[in-house]
Formats: sequence, C-alpha cells, structure tokens
Amino acid sequence: MIFEKEHELVRQLAKQFAEEIIKPIAEEVDETSEFPMEVYKKMADAGFLGIKIPKEYGGAGGDHRSYAIVMEELSKASAVSTIWISSPNSLQSTPILRDGTPEQKEKYLRPMVTGEKMFCFALTEPGAGSDAASILTTAEADGDDFIINGRKTFITGAPVSDYIILFAKTNPELGAKGISTFIVDSKAEGVSFGKAENKMGVIGCPTSDVVLENVRVPKENMLGKEGKGFINAMKTLSVGRLGIACQALGMAEGAMEEAVKYAKARNQFGRSLARFQNTQFVLAEMETKICAMRHLVYDTAYKMDMGQPADKEASMAKLFATEEAKWVVDKALQIHGGYGYIKEYPIERIYRDIRVTSIYEGTSEVQKMVIASNVLK
Ligand SMILES: Cc1cc2nc3c(=O)[nH]c(=O)nc-3n(C[C@H](O)[C@H](O)[C@H](O)COP(=O)(O)OP(=O)(O)OC[C@H]3O[C@@H](n4cnc5c(N)ncnc54)[C@H](O)[C@@H]3O)c2cc1C
Repeated sequence: MIFEKEHELVRQLAKQFAEEIIKPIAEEVDETSEFPMEVYKKMADAGFLGIKIPKEYGGAGGDHRSYAIVMEELSKASAVSTIWISSPNSLQSTPILRDGTPEQKEKYLRPMVTGEKMFCFALTEPGAGSDAASILTTAEADGDDFIINGRKTFITGAPVSDYIILFAKTNPELGAKGISTFIVDSKAEGVSFGKAENKMGVIGCPTSDVVLENVRVPKENMLGKEGKGFINAMKTLSVGRLGIACQALGMAEGAMEEAVKYAKARNQFGRSLARFQNTQFVLAEMETKICAMRHLVYDTAYKMDMGQPADKEASMAKLFATEEAKWVVDKALQIHGGYGYIKEYPIERIYRDIRVTSIYEGTSEVQKMVIASNVLK
C-alpha cells in the first residue's frame, strides 16, 4: 500500500485548495504574469511551501508522497502555482538540508517556509545547460571572502529572490569536482538581474538571468564542503525531477477532465463527441497513459520515503510523465477542435504549460543519460 490515511487527508486539503483558491485565478495569472502574493501567503499558511521540510525548521514535516500529492492536485488547476511550491520544497531547501550547517538551516529554512524570504537556484549558464559541469562562473578566495563573477540564465524566481543558491567554480581546473555551492544575498553589491523572459507557458513566475560582477561573499556562506557543489546539485535535481513529474501528471489529469467534459457537451452529426468510437478510444489511451504515469510517480515518491536509491526512478518518472503528458494534452486539445485553440478554454493554457516539463530540471535526453548510466553501471 503506497498511501496511508494521512496522505488522503493531504489530498483532500490540496484538492479543495486547488478548486477554491487556485482555479479561479489561473487564467488571470496567465494573462497578467502576476501571481497574487496573497495567494502565495495562503499557500504558506496551508503548509504547502514547506510540506516536505522538517518540522524543526518550521515545515509541515511531510514526506515525498505528501509533496507529490500537493504538486499533482494543484497542477490540475494551474501549473505555475506549483512552481512556487516545488521551488522551496526541492531546489531551494534540498541543498541546505543536505549540506547546510545547523546555523544555515536555522537562518534560511524558516523564512523560506513562511514565504517571508524567497530563494532561487542558479546552476544553468548561457554556455552550460545540460552540460552543467562546464559552468564558467568562478568564486575566488580573497581573505575571509570569495569574489564571484559570472552569469546565470533561465533562473526561476530570480528577480523576486532574496537569496540565490549559486553554483560556482572554486577550482576551475578540476571540472565538476571544482564546483562549490554558495548562498548569495540578492541585494549584495555586484548582483543584478536581467529582464524577466517572455515565456511560452508557466506564466506568473519570473525567470531571468543573474549577473555577478565582483560579488563579495563571506566564506561562511559556502554551503557544504568546497568542491561538493556538483554532487549537491545533482542530488537536489533528483528530488526536483519527482516534482516536475508530478506537475506533468497533474496537468495531464486536468487536460483529461477538460476533454471528458467537452466530449460530453459538444454535439456533431447529431450526437455528442463522446459517442464516437474514435473519441472513446483516444480517451481510453489517455486514461491508460495517465494511470501508468501515476504508478511511476508514486513509486518514486515511495522509494524516496523508504530511503531507497531513487535517482533512476526519478528520471524515469520525469521522462515518462512529461513525454506522455505532452501527448495526452495534445489529444485533449484535439478533442476540443477549434475551441481548443482559443484562450477562453483552459486546454489552450495547459498545452503551452506542459511543454517546458520535458526541458527544465534536465531535458528528456538528460533523463535518458541518467537512466542508461544506472542500467549500465
Ligand atoms: C522556464 C525555465 C525555467 C528554468 N529554471 C531554472 C532554474 O531555476 N535554475 C537553473 O539553474 N536552470 C533553470 N532552467 C534551465 C534548464 O534547466 C535548462 O534550460 C535545461 O537544463 C537545458 O539546458 P539548455 O537550455 O542550455 O539546453 P542545451 O543543454 O543546450 O540542450 C539543447 C538540446 O540538446 C540536447 N542535448 C544536449 N546535450 C545532449 C547530449 N549529450 N545528448 C543528446 N542530446 C543532448 C538537449 O536535450 C536539448 O534537447 C530553466 C529553464 C526554463 C526554460
């Protein structure tokens, strides 16, 4: 049995929150690019920003399954709302929980959970995406500080962040083994942000460049040991991949609901679309793929909760869920005919939102590399 009673309670809460608070704002957020801060605060109050963060740091102390449920249920209503949730629970808290000192954990995790302070995770650079080990940002020791220079790109939440979890080379000759992690104050001298990218989807959470010009960072802001940044980033991304797989699953489920509703309501040739065998067969395939996604996603979360190795599983869940969800959402739009192409129908937004899931936190090709290296080791 993958779920316990407490998980069903989390699902009820998340479902209700999605229906009552997220769904009504989804279209407006997509149109205006603004995610209402009062809703962000409500997500914090509901415990979602720290659903997976231990209670000793102010989090809800939930497990990966609870996190997966919240991500899935909210993604049905709006994918971007779950970026605001996955960020603190995965990319931003995991590096601190893994490698932070007790003081760093105390200082940064509490305000992250309450939503008082926002963070971003800065690994990607203009010349280093999939090949993250080839980053060029450097951190040079200078007395009690490091001096950081470089440029990060596509950084989620950067323009609104208070702190940056930054990966830089302290020893460029060593390649991946020369990468270290730092917590950088976003207001420090020499830090600036590019303009928010004009994205295709997941509109409502700004993504921008981060430029670092001779930024002085105290040595105590290093997170973990020198040279351990790459392994920290990769382990963090494994948890992140579970979150993206959940996002894709939720979006596919949301698309399915829209397709069923539309197929029953729309009449052509004197009968509802739902009565054509082609529609039924497409819906049957969509449902089957969603069910398979669910199994992979839940199995990954379960393995993580049991403390079992799950890097391969997280990559398989992300690869399968994101690729199949794109297919499901495309079919759901096809069932809508021309109306699916019009912004009035939620499927148009879901179609744009789903596209990024097989790109960020490691492309599908990168997931295949991770899976293959596990299979072949
Ligand atoms: C909306 C959004 C938000 C993001 N948020 C963040 C964030 O918060 N923090 C962060 O650090 N990054 C973030 N990213 C960056 C994201 O993780 C990268 O875009 C992603 O890892 C791919 O890197 P790239 O864009 O440089 O593509 P590239 O690495 O240049 O890849 C281009 C294509 O080539 C393929 N490819 C590359 N190498 C190989 C290979 N060896 N074999 C086969 N195919 C290969 C890729 O799979 C891809 O299809 C975000 C991106 C987006 C779009």
